[in-house]
Amino acid sequence: MRVLAVAPECFPYVKTGGLADVVGALPGALGALGHDVRTLVPGYPAVLAHLGEATVIDTYDELFGAPAAVWEVPGKDGAPSLLVVDARHLYDRPGHLYLASETDEWPDNPLRFAALAVVAREIALGRLPAWRPDVVHAHDWQSGLVPAYLALDGRPRPPCVMTVHNLAFQGQYDPAWFGALGLPADTFAPDGVEYYGGIGFLKAGLHYADRLTTVSPTYAREIQSMDWGMGLGGLLHARENKLVGIVNGIDDAVWNPSRDPWLDPTYTVRSIDRRATHKAAVQQAFGLHQQPDALLFCVISRLAWQKGIDTLLPAVGALVDAGCQLAVLGSGDPALEAGFHNAAAVYPGRVGVIVGYDEGMSHRLQAGADAIIVPSRFEPCGLTQLYGLRYGCLPIAARTGGLIDTVHDVDVAGEAAATGISFASGRTDSLIDAIERALTLWREPERWRQRQRRGMTKDLGWGKAASAYAAVYEAARADLTLR
Ligand code: ADP
Repeated sequence: MRVLAVAPECFPYVKTGGLADVVGALPGALGALGHDVRTLVPGYPAVLAHLGEATVIDTYDELFGAPAAVWEVPGKDGAPSLLVVDARHLYDRPGHLYLASETDEWPDNPLRFAALAVVAREIALGRLPAWRPDVVHAHDWQSGLVPAYLALDGRPRPPCVMTVHNLAFQGQYDPAWFGALGLPADTFAPDGVEYYGGIGFLKAGLHYADRLTTVSPTYAREIQSMDWGMGLGGLLHARENKLVGIVNGIDDAVWNPSRDPWLDPTYTVRSIDRRATHKAAVQQAFGLHQQPDALLFCVISRLAWQKGIDTLLPAVGALVDAGCQLAVLGSGDPALEAGFHNAAAVYPGRVGVIVGYDEGMSHRLQAGADAIIVPSRFEPCGLTQLYGLRYGCLPIAARTGGLIDTVHDVDVAGEAAATGISFASGRTDSLIDAIERALTLWREPERWRQRQRRGMTKDLGWGKAASAYAAVYEAARADLTLR
């Protein structure tokens, strides 16, 4: 199958979160099954920097305010093939992909992502005669208008699958933008793109897509509920028979301790003792005491409400009192950043924090810390706990969403299948209890090692997920044929 993926970010070209990792890895896994994926992304500066070996394959005289071009970037060294929407008036600006300031979006975001969707529609409908997709796969709200434009076009079209990576980000805009989007007037209705009086990009995608997926089975159930449906639970529940949860894999070319270029030395499950070198390096980088026997926890996260990081802060005292250490890599909410700076000042040598985004350090932490705490309030899939499993960094994860599907504690899995420790989401007392249970396990090195080994040898690759996506694509094609 020829698959046109449409996404607002894609590793290794441009990344703000887990979505980019997924969009960057899935094409390779689908490729291994014989499918041909091209990924359409906006031409942000970070993407334009990759146009060296690219060619212009299409032009638009006018795309939401100015001319634009589409470049084809050949995939190499495992990176996916891109189709880049080069619309400098929309995407070529410094700073964050979606935000003009810490709190405000780029004011023209509706146009920026409508433009992405228009180009996707044109490619889907055959504008590039040499490459006409059999299926379109739209990712997250930024691609939400793709299913709408396609379904409303009237020309023969391929089916469209929409994936929700995080229901919290919905792309809701003032109705005044509606006229600029070029949609039929009667679609500004609850049975269309209208959403609580405004325009809902994700809502539109969920309404018009032929098939829906999200990134874990548990999250697929949660988002149909009042509690976690975030305003879209009713719609998702109504389309339950079109929705499946597929757990993300991890990209073996990027996250594999046996050949990770960020690591020296690399290691495998058989040379797990080499992690000690990385632990010492992490302790040094975070200003922690050089104590090989202290249980070292880490956090690698956006510092945001979703991630439940605020529930960890009041547990830091108990963690330190128990003789453990904590290394935090993250950025986001200034109050949380200040909270960890403060904790590092109160517990020097025991708590260390690096505020910022540091890809290399995130790999070294997974290789050097003993355990990774993932205290999310909700978590569609979560990747850091998967990387933790692969790197022998035991996940201590809240019981929510994809964390339930990927981290198995003794209470559900039994000792013979346990890979981590789970606790009640949003509850500091339960987190402290999990830290204490981790410490008990740490004091039994052979049991700790067993749990580490089990995680490291689990099949966490993209193979299974890629087959599941291919099955969804086939189902979507069958839906259209049957109609
Ligand atoms: P989300 O996409 O909700 O932020 P995920 O766990 O799905 O959460 O993915 C987060 C991704 O971002 C992982 O690849 C993780 O390693 C990375 N990451 C998060 N914070 C940082 C940071 N401060 N520095 C480097 N990488 C980070």
